[in-house]
Amino acid sequence: MSNNIRFPTKDEIIAKVDTMQAEAVEKLKQLVSFDSLLGNEQDAQIFMQEIFNSLSLNVERFPIVLDDIKDLPGFSPVNWSYDGKDNVVAQHTPPVVASDMLSKGSQGKSLIFNGHIDVVPTGRETLWSKHPFSPYVKDGRLYGRGSGDMKAGVMAFVIAYKALKELGFVPSAKVIFQTVVEEECTGNGTLACLARGYRADAAIIPEPFPFLVTGQVGVVWCNVTVQGKPAHTLEMETGINAIDAAMYLVSAIRDLEKSWNVKEKCHPLFKQFPHPLGFNLGQIQGGEWTSSVPSECSFDLRAGFFPGTPLETVRNSITQAIDEAAKLKKITYQIQWNGFQAEGSTMDVNGDLMKQLGSSYKDVMGKEVPQQPILCTTDCRFFDLYYNIPSACFGPESTHIHGIDESVSLESYRDITRVLACFIAEWCGLQPSSSA
Ligand SMILES: [Zn+2]
Repeated sequence: MSNNIRFPTKDEIIAKVDTMQAEAVEKLKQLVSFDSLLGNEQDAQIFMQEIFNSLSLNVERFPIVLDDIKDLPGFSPVNWSYDGKDNVVAQHTPPVVASDMLSKGSQGKSLIFNGHIDVVPTGRETLWSKHPFSPYVKDGRLYGRGSGDMKAGVMAFVIAYKALKELGFVPSAKVIFQTVVEEECTGNGTLACLARGYRADAAIIPEPFPFLVTGQVGVVWCNVTVQGKPAHTLEMETGINAIDAAMYLVSAIRDLEKSWNVKEKCHPLFKQFPHPLGFNLGQIQGGEWTSSVPSECSFDLRAGFFPGTPLETVRNSITQAIDEAAKLKKITYQIQWNGFQAEGSTMDVNGDLMKQLGSSYKDVMGKEVPQQPILCTTDCRFFDLYYNIPSACFGPESTHIHGIDESVSLESYRDITRVLACFIAEWCGLQPSSSA
């Protein structure tokens, strides 16, 4: 028996995506208007749950249970509560149909789309042109905290799937959509999805990089608390200034950073960068009174390191550098490793996933997809390093992520959506949705 199903061409898929641009922008605006900062992700997750429900997917919203993930590779310890922090996972499972109803003649390959819903703090709001959670469009860009990193990526995979559905087709393989919490500090959201058993032949995370990411550095966070001895400033020499002591330890850490960034030690993938491994002094607290010698100072550090360096080696080097400096000046301190304990990773650029994504990109954009490593981490590491699922990181062009007046290009948002829709059709294959 044969039938006369006519599967959509890539031009028809692209045209369909383009007709949905107004809807895509409106939905993105709604998502960006949620201030889904650490600990405040729930409303945005409920919004995503409703969107997935409206697409007739099999949706679950579930809490992260630390006991389920704390012994898994890639876990990052935290010193905050996980109450009210849920992941959302929506699954499309194609109904079984005869092979002549499948665009590829058989079931295609399964796929995970993953995106984080959490955003980083805005910084001083008055520095923004408009309120960071009142998104607006200007000169072809949508502005607001989280617009690029990475709510446009999340909405791109939603619209890509919806476009195929509106054409009357669904993927002929399992597709799993995940919106996770805590990408910006631990990655434990994605780890919890993997711990729950979600697997596929490949994973795509549309973070704001309009090129195929080839590798990413590792990242550790630590907090160092330095104890001083308070005294009145009239007898300053009897006290120990915790802030001065902390600055001394920071200078030792800066020396370590320099030594890690020397050309001879550079990982081959990152040779194009003059300073690939950033040590960021991200937070500092200390002191009690301007005319008192401060009794305590605490600072938070983010340190980058190359793929292939074990976390233990990284932590030991940093601890050693601090310890040697502390001994020299008799400084008392504690060091804690909370938040990111993330290994570096590289992507399989010659694998089927990258080849197909490159080919879909070329179909849509008419040129080869650029490739580049990045100097930060993404949740891709979990898929590649611990679950043998090839991952790709690729999403809309954005500016000032983590900065002031973050924005995403609407043209790039549409282009990425086009690419993802064409990619689904090729990777998963299509079948008529009427059989669903
Ligand atoms: Zn991100």
